[in-house]
Amino acid sequence: MTTLPKTSDHLPNLFNQALKQFDVAANHLQIEEGVRSLLRTPKREMTVHFPVRMDDGSIKMFTGYRVQHNINRGPAKGGIRYDTHVSLDEVRALSMWMTWKCALLNVPFGGAKGGVIVDPTQLSAAELERLTRRYTTEIAEIIGPERDIPAPDMNTNPQVMGWIMDTYSMHRGYTVPAVVTGKPLEIGGSMGRTEATGRGVFLVTREACRAHHIDLAGARVIIQGFGNVGSIAAKLLAEAGCTIVGLSDIYGAIYNEQGIDVTEALLIARNHGHLQDVHGVQSLSNQELLEQPCDILIPAATEGQLTASNAKYIQARCIVEAANGPTTTEADTIFQTRGIPVIPDILANAGGVVVSYFEWVQNQQGFFWTEDEVNSRLEQMMTQSFAAVTATCAEQHCPYRLGAYLLAVQRVVAATQLRSVYP
Ligand code: NAD
Repeated sequence: MTTLPKTSDHLPNLFNQALKQFDVAANHLQIEEGVRSLLRTPKREMTVHFPVRMDDGSIKMFTGYRVQHNINRGPAKGGIRYDTHVSLDEVRALSMWMTWKCALLNVPFGGAKGGVIVDPTQLSAAELERLTRRYTTEIAEIIGPERDIPAPDMNTNPQVMGWIMDTYSMHRGYTVPAVVTGKPLEIGGSMGRTEATGRGVFLVTREACRAHHIDLAGARVIIQGFGNVGSIAAKLLAEAGCTIVGLSDIYGAIYNEQGIDVTEALLIARNHGHLQDVHGVQSLSNQELLEQPCDILIPAATEGQLTASNAKYIQARCIVEAANGPTTTEADTIFQTRGIPVIPDILANAGGVVVSYFEWVQNQQGFFWTEDEVNSRLEQMMTQSFAAVTATCAEQHCPYRLGAYLLAVQRVVAATQLRSVYP
């Protein structure tokens, strides 16, 4: 069994990064001090330490988190990730970004996130199931269709969501499909949910290309991360005529100026092979890949990948943040100075939460939509949000991230003021 390489030891504190981004928007909007501090502070943070019986009979302790940043616009919503570098500050940052993302897309949810510190590649399927069921039990009192609705994130998938749904339902005594989204279709999942984040990234990339006069057909694209989000984005962009010149996963990167066969890469990844096995490619390190020339660079792996050290060497005409928090604030400033537009995560990867919302609506109604209906509603919401952000940026003469934050934060402030402070 190979372990996941550790890559995040030197990451800047992610929650500080999230706060800095919020502060820029809060200053711009001149938000009063009390509301500002309310929005800087996660509403609820749960840390759980729990035992799991391993296959050899031993007991191992694990630590997990669930953070609900804000619920003023609706129930909390956000993914659960399994990774060795999960920390409370990381989960706090991710939960805050979910609040802004839901507000930006006008989805009636607040923001949450969860995580367990674990290398899932070291667990058997049975151990992973027991870990998931116990973690769900630990956080069960704060989740629910009207409270907080988890979804997949890094190293979690529809099967994990199915175990969460079943565990929660067993505790209730009846089936509660709407407690999680991203479930398998057979137990109440939505058509198009697995592809939704990657499809949203594709749609936003298409809009960004139009805005910046980059021809999508023939555009050279580099994608870091070839999991759920990166692989679907690569497939859809290749189908639209882009040349995917670089791909990577946690084990390394591949590059071919003439274009990589994405179908072959998908097949290899699906069979748990290494991207290096794709024919006719050059092997590069992950860092080298980010610095290759391209039209569109799509970080779709993890946070803190574009930093003060590599931002000056990036040779992309446009960056689309498929991952959450891939650009540090220092790198963001460098890209601004260099005139490289960055489409921010809260817009670029919002396709997942949009279709999660559709899944929740379908579960509540017990009435399911076709894939075409899901995809066309997703397209409408992504393109409208892109247009709204572009209009705000034109009005305020600001980069995409600030434009997106201004729209999102204003909506959360409005909800906060309308609801006022209880009692
Ligand atoms: P995943 O676990 O399916 O895939 C992650 C991919 O990134 C894998 O190929 C992994 O090998 C690779 N990777 C990890 N660290 C890397 C590194 N340092 N360098 C290169 N590759 C690396 O995860 P995912 O669901 O595709 O999520 C990817 C990103 O998108 C995360 O930031 C996540 O928060 C964000 N996101 C996911 C969703 C969703 O619906 N799954 C929604 C919104 C945002």
